[in-house]
Amino acid sequence: MIKPQSLLCPKPAGLYCPPGDFYIDPVRPVERAVITHGHADHARAGHGVVVATAPTLAIMAARYGEGFAGKVQALEYGEALNRDGVEITLVPAGHVLGSAQVVVRFKGLTMVVSGDYKRRRDPTCPPFEPVVCDVFVTEATFGLPVFRHPPDTEEIAKLLASVAQFPARSHVVGVYALGKAQRVICLLREAGWDRPIPAHGALERLNALYEGFGIDLGPLEAATTDCGADFAGAIVLAPPSALATPWARRFADPVDAFASGWMRIRARARQRGVELPLIISDHADWDELTATIAELHPGEVWITHGREDALARWCGLQGIPARALDLVGYEDEGE
Ligand SMILES: [Zn+2]
Ligand SMILES: [Zn+2]
Repeated sequence: MIKPQSLLCPKPAGLYCPPGDFYIDPVRPVERAVITHGHADHARAGHGVVVATAPTLAIMAARYGEGFAGKVQALEYGEALNRDGVEITLVPAGHVLGSAQVVVRFKGLTMVVSGDYKRRRDPTCPPFEPVVCDVFVTEATFGLPVFRHPPDTEEIAKLLASVAQFPARSHVVGVYALGKAQRVICLLREAGWDRPIPAHGALERLNALYEGFGIDLGPLEAATTDCGADFAGAIVLAPPSALATPWARRFADPVDAFASGWMRIRARARQRGVELPLIISDHADWDELTATIAELHPGEVWITHGREDALARWCGLQGIPARALDLVGYEDEGE
């Protein structure tokens, strides 16, 4: 069997496959790229050929314009693509709409690149699919034992309880535009919140894109105060950057909330002036990361980005050799 590092190797532009001559989630423009999902740090414009799921390609087109790549090729989940003897398959990663793990097979060696992933149910995308592999290349955004995300239903209940307690105030929830916004909307709908949800203009395009792919978000409206509405009692969604800005201050005595895995760290919430932290993450927490590695029990683990050391140490204790790739250019979470 060939060595894993001759099938995939870290380069400044990203993870490169020499026999197939392509990169996975390159951070610089390259000739051929396979893209795991649409978050801006993984999906960049300017590549020659881009292979990804149809929703990921649509997300890239929505963000960068139709000419974001020289050529695109959509792959269905489970559909195999062969490049010079290297077989590439995309399987669900459970992270956001269209998100995929990249399964790379060559001469009897199977390597799986998770991209960003989570193991929890998400009403907006199919669940993570475990694939038996020789090498599992994982993210580790929340790769510390302190990161344990509570059930998302509990966090949504916290939000609804606050709305019930302060009916005269508006609740402005910071959400990343891709994935978090639509998941929070779906979770609110599942919890029985059927009122129109005002959304900041920066979320409109991706909300519409999700609906185009069959994700029902229920009634949404523009979060504009132009016609005198103050959105008292409403749950307003906005990109995190809009929290605590004059835009958000126009609403009725707003309660600032923020839905992110980072809200586990109280200092972070305080620092951002978040009154109501909601621990809702689209990344695997410590338990999900370790349970996934235990379940796959790969011959080797590579860690792309995030808190690499603790997870590498944990793998070592399980007798699984682990290697931190220290890939640069990927953000902590979201945009
Ligand atoms: Zn992501
Ligand atoms: Zn990422």
